[in-house]
Amino acid sequence: MISDLQPVLDRAADGGRITPEEALALYVHAPLHALGRAADAARRKRYADTVDIATYIIERNINYTNVCVTACKFCAFYAPPKSEKGWVREIDDILRRCAETVELGGTQIMFQGGHHPDFGVEYYERSFAAIKAAFPQLVIHSLGASEVAHMAKVSGVGIEEAISRIHAAGLDSFAGAGAELLPERPRTAIAPLKESGERWLEIMETAHGLGVESTSTMLMGTGETNAERIEHLRMIRDVQDRTGGFRAFIPYTYQPENNHLKGRTQATLLEYLRLIAVARLFLHNVAHIQGSWLTTGKEAGQLTLHYGADDLGSVMLEENVVSSAGAKHRSNRMELLHLIRAAGRIPAQRDTTYNHLIVHDDPANDPVDDKVVSHLSSTALTGGTAHPELKVVDAR
Ligand code: SF4
Repeated sequence: MISDLQPVLDRAADGGRITPEEALALYVHAPLHALGRAADAARRKRYADTVDIATYIIERNINYTNVCVTACKFCAFYAPPKSEKGWVREIDDILRRCAETVELGGTQIMFQGGHHPDFGVEYYERSFAAIKAAFPQLVIHSLGASEVAHMAKVSGVGIEEAISRIHAAGLDSFAGAGAELLPERPRTAIAPLKESGERWLEIMETAHGLGVESTSTMLMGTGETNAERIEHLRMIRDVQDRTGGFRAFIPYTYQPENNHLKGRTQATLLEYLRLIAVARLFLHNVAHIQGSWLTTGKEAGQLTLHYGADDLGSVMLEENVVSSAGAKHRSNRMELLHLIRAAGRIPAQRDTTYNHLIVHDDPANDPVDDKVVSHLSSTALTGGTAHPELKVVDAR
């Protein structure tokens, strides 16, 4: 163990590089408040001109199918092929959801779904082209390396071709889902049929090389060790050293309902806050750290803003994946503005590349009749379906 952690905290707070061993020592041993102070100092140094601002985005997750051949053990969303619970959204339905997003001031679509055995590159090309033709103003920030690996296999093409084709059809950037835990042992334990963590990173690196940037994620709380959490960060930082293509790091916590892990472990609030702080200090080369209020709760989200996070994610107009596993936190724009202000920061609506669209610096100008509500059409939550006429087709 490193006996005196203060010099490490000071170096990291100043934007300096720390080793994985130092990051692990901070994660396990640094006093909580000292860790938070250092992470907040690192954030303040990076965002000296906008130090009082915390950002959010208005977006919609559109789930095009729940049919999936990959059967991750932590997932409560998927249905295996031939299951009577499987469904595929029609393109008209997808476009209607895009129209609602635009109407409500949303700027970003996250197209998210299972690894359908028939969905190759062509399916995504058609879908993205249709979305962009109807709504060119929407940014398609979607999918990740797992979907790319799957669609390339279905279509019998290489990774570069798959990425180039969906990019040309309208994909703007990758959301980076599917990272889960990148080190081999915990990844194999929860997602044995997914590509390896090394492969996930190779595909993201290829995307960055083709000019398609991404965010990066981490699923915490499925039984991984502290060392494996830091190893996940190291793997991301090494790629970022080469590409600079990860815009943000977004850790979120495992939700324990309706899946095969049967809630055997979860990350606590303190573990989450420590991870956010260490991510800010260790990932000195990643600009944005996002706190996930959706999986950890609203007050936890507020706290992340004091532990190095500069972004509080989104008002997600629709979400079904983590909600299916028990994430019950919901919010609306007015509440999110309040949460950010109550944490001592000025809220700002951002776009996908973190430009500030609206800085809410005067509460008198806040929306008073806010229809921007999270999960307005979630099918995963009781009472969450505002649109019972949702059209789905049998996927069998
Ligand atoms: S997490 Fe994604 S890839 Fe894994 S089973 Fe669920 S839908 Fe399929």
